Amino acid sequence: MSKLDPDCIFCKIITNDIPSYTVYEDDDVKAFLDISQGTPGHTLVIPKIHVANIFEYDEQLAATVFAKIPMIARAIQAANPAIKGMNIVNNNGEVAYQSVFHSHFHLVPRYTSKDDFGMFFKDNSANYTPEQLTEIQESINSHLGD
Ligand code: AMP
Ligand code: ZN
Repeated sequence: MSKLDPDCIFCKIITNDIPSYTVYEDDDVKAFLDISQGTPGHTLVIPKIHVANIFEYDEQLAATVFAKIPMIARAIQAANPAIKGMNIVNNNGEVAYQSVFHSHFHLVPRYTSKDDFGMFFKDNSANYTPEQLTEIQESINSHLGD
């Protein structure tokens, strides 16, 4: 099985067949500016192996990719004193707003609560009984390691 998919835009960024504004790379990961620049400095971190989404990671790949994220996040932050925080977002599946099906982590610098990034968690806690939450908990528990 090839590590890269010749039809994948991010695999082409890995091989430099498509140019990118790369801020970091090593044998395992590449980090480059997201062309949309949702906020200034918006960066994507990708594994240098074609995996579509988080469900395809094994522990070793996860450890390798996640291990690099704090260093890259600190470099982004250090590059601009106006950065006050950062959202790290990973979309998995079209329903979750994934549009490029090579797994990637968005590092989105935050400047003010009114900058161009938004995320909304609805509070549905009033709709759940303790029994319903326990049922969900136990169902997830039972599938660990599947
Ligand atoms: P997602 O919606 O989570 O799959 O995010 C895909 C991201 O890839 C979007 O934010 C796009 O702006 C970004 N993107 C697509 N093509 C390129 C490219 N050639 N260089 C940099 N970023 C890209
Ligand atoms: Zn790919």
